[in-house]
Amino acid sequence: MDTAATKAPSFFLDPLSSRDALIADALDGEKRRQQSHIELIASENLVSRAVLDALGHEISNKTLEGYPGHRFHGGADYADIVENAAIDRAKSLFNCAYANAQPHSGTQANQAVFFATIGPGDRILSLDLAAGGHLSHGANSNLSGRWFETYHYTVVDETGLIDYDSVERQALKVKPKLLIAGGSAYPRTFDFPRMRAIADEVNAILLVDMAHFAGLVAAGVHPSPLPWADVVTCTTTKTLRGPRGGLILTKDLTWANKLQKAIFPGIQGSLHTQVIAAKAVCLGEALQPEFKEYGARVKANAKKLAHTLQRRGIRVISGGTDTHLVLLDLSPQKLTGQQAQQTLGLAHITSNSNPVPFGSPRPAEWTGLRLGSSAATTRGFSENEFELIGQTIADLINNAGGPRIDKHISSARETVTQLCERFPIYT
Ligand SMILES: *Cc1c(COP(=O)(O)O)cnc(C)c1O
Repeated sequence: MDTAATKAPSFFLDPLSSRDALIADALDGEKRRQQSHIELIASENLVSRAVLDALGHEISNKTLEGYPGHRFHGGADYADIVENAAIDRAKSLFNCAYANAQPHSGTQANQAVFFATIGPGDRILSLDLAAGGHLSHGANSNLSGRWFETYHYTVVDETGLIDYDSVERQALKVKPKLLIAGGSAYPRTFDFPRMRAIADEVNAILLVDMAHFAGLVAAGVHPSPLPWADVVTCTTTKTLRGPRGGLILTKDLTWANKLQKAIFPGIQGSLHTQVIAAKAVCLGEALQPEFKEYGARVKANAKKLAHTLQRRGIRVISGGTDTHLVLLDLSPQKLTGQQAQQTLGLAHITSNSNPVPFGSPRPAEWTGLRLGSSAATTRGFSENEFELIGQTIADLINNAGGPRIDKHISSARETVTQLCERFPIYT
């Protein structure tokens, strides 16, 4: 018998590049794009190599249903260590009693909360999509809008801010079972104590979806919703700087059992083990002192960006920002969001077209452009670089459609290239 150790077959050893040229080349192209473009999409970030290592790990092979210590499959020892770490770190980071690390996305985290807290046909009151709300909060086109009776509060046209007296009046009229605070394009802090008071007044459950600002809460530079909300959801993706996925949190253990069951077996099957590992890694990173500095810089950089654009005559909705997010209204420039997104894109600055409050609901007619500071802050940009980016964007916006736009685009691209070379990523 040959007892010499044999090498695993090439199936287990060959890198992607030698097995699938089409995908390997596309992935290489994507990495080069990230290295050479400035990322300003507010929902994006750049994760650490450690997070990427976890995402690409063999633990991805592991199928498990249930929760640590109570699995429906064998071989769970290491996965239990990983999931317990994710749960413990989430609890200590957000100072709460319960965490569920299994939601495959922010949308599914919200779905699980609906499943745990309300029934078909019940009423939801949430922020209007055009005012910065999220699809999964009861939009018509989303399952949540079909299965629940949804009402929306909005912002004041002139200020771009939520008027809580009007939310209260609406809540008294609608009597929602679930009140939701949070959104994807609201640049300001929500008044959590006030939302709590409104929820109590109408006997509603309060869900805060902190998908966008979870990282700022973790860094201690944004108020935490946890003392106020019945349940909090978030993604691990955005300012929290982790893998694509969601978390459910609460200070109130009376929800724990319902939330556990709502995720599994309620709306999900087996866990994405490699993503849970990556969530544990990002939560561990967020517990480090450096994360506080990162959070403070994300905020300062967004403020610098907003001020710079404002000084150049560009309309910043709500007049500024309390977070990483800056929402522009380009209607005074007679530009659509799509035109602006495309012009910035030609200069290698990535952003997204967005509706603005009370603007057209048709994507082709949106006049908003949403920007965010997290990814470029992670890259190392400080306020000086954000001032430069702001000036560059203003040049592009103020000259879009003009005779000299090509010159502005090539000069902007030069600026972007220099910045990206000064702040390398994933070398
Ligand atoms: C991004 C976001 C989500 C959805 O997260 P996905 O992981 O993309 O499903 C949910 N709620 C809010 C407020 C968000 O901004």
